[in-house]
Amino acid sequence: MTKGLDLQWKILIGILGGILIGVWLNQTVGPDVQEGWPWTLGILLKYGGEIFLRLLRMLIVPLVAASVFSAVVNLGQVGELGKVGIHTLLYYFATTALAVLTGLILVNWIHPGHGIDPESLRHLGIEFSVPEAVSIQGVGDRNAVFIILETLIEMIPINPFEALAKADVLQIIFFSVFFGIIAGKLGKKTESVRVLVEALDLIVAKSIEWVMLIAPYCIFLLVTDIFMDLGLPVLQVLAKYAFTVFFGLCIHAFVTLPLLVWLIGGYNPFKLCKAVSTALMTAWSTASSAATLPLTMDCVHRKAGVPSKISDFVLPLGATVNMDGTALYESVAVIFIAELMGIQLDFSMQIVVFITATLAAIGAAAVPGAGLVTMGIVLTAVGLPLDGIGLILAIDRLLDQFRTTVNVWGDTTAAVVVARLDQGSPQRR
Ligand code: ASP
Repeated sequence: MTKGLDLQWKILIGILGGILIGVWLNQTVGPDVQEGWPWTLGILLKYGGEIFLRLLRMLIVPLVAASVFSAVVNLGQVGELGKVGIHTLLYYFATTALAVLTGLILVNWIHPGHGIDPESLRHLGIEFSVPEAVSIQGVGDRNAVFIILETLIEMIPINPFEALAKADVLQIIFFSVFFGIIAGKLGKKTESVRVLVEALDLIVAKSIEWVMLIAPYCIFLLVTDIFMDLGLPVLQVLAKYAFTVFFGLCIHAFVTLPLLVWLIGGYNPFKLCKAVSTALMTAWSTASSAATLPLTMDCVHRKAGVPSKISDFVLPLGATVNMDGTALYESVAVIFIAELMGIQLDFSMQIVVFITATLAAIGAAAVPGAGLVTMGIVLTAVGLPLDGIGLILAIDRLLDQFRTTVNVWGDTTAAVVVARLDQGSPQRR
């Protein structure tokens, strides 16, 4: 596909170059310049990256619809589909819970919110109010059950075309699975639709290759833009919090998930990491699991060797509901906010954080900053004010990049593990 250097190396160079030039611009011209050449440059950076993101997002709807439909038809029997579905959901739920647990253990050990002078935050323009009292009423179970039920029911689209137009991935998955099962049952009579959808799948796969030709350059622009805008003084004040999130993400990404890949998936995690490195770097640069999905699917199937009937089903679902990094970050962030406000959350409250952070991550959209929004669910559940979000806003984009990478890594590990559990799928150690 690419001549000379491999694509993943070109992307890595784009990322490193973007960091260097972005930090240099941040230090010399500063963020938010409204005039002169830095302004023109800012526009170029913003729109250059945007083109790439839009091209990737353009492919998501046809990709998900076509690949999930084909995967279900190829899985054949409803029994096999059910088995794959249950393994996938169990894996997603278990790994998300493990991620939250890791976050909670770390934040209770490091206490990143202790020892920060509220004045230093106010000085940097970060305002917050301390709530009068923390209430536990109306918390927890009722909200949690409600969130689950609502998510499940809203998966059923009233109009599949509206689901396509809104790019609602969960709804698209639902009707693609539904029609896929029926098409499989009808057999030969639906042959023409299957051929058509498979052709669409091929077109999208080729389009991904084309879009990736500009990836290194656009990623360079995206990353430069992010680092040019970074508020470095805020970064120093929130360093302990950022470190806790980062450390937790590392444990989950380098210990928990690789162990599962090795032990249950029977697959060498280093090989998997190498195979999906292009997707991981794109996830880091774009902070969007959805925008990365076309690449994740390409890498997992073509480079990691997972059969498409598994990866085409597991990955679109994972991009939408499986967010280990987001769940971990939400649990750390909420406890950090509580600590900053001088509130100690007791054990029962931490259980509420555990449950709601898991659900909030499932409900988060696969776009930049979505975790920050759904964190409102967790904050409300433990009676903290929503303006607590303002405290961590300044460094959220950077943390988003890391948690999105872990989200995508989690999805790829699921594909390998589920493929292994679905006996007969070839695996390489
Ligand atoms: N940006 C993340 C993702 O796309 C979601 C989040 O904000 O945590 O996976």
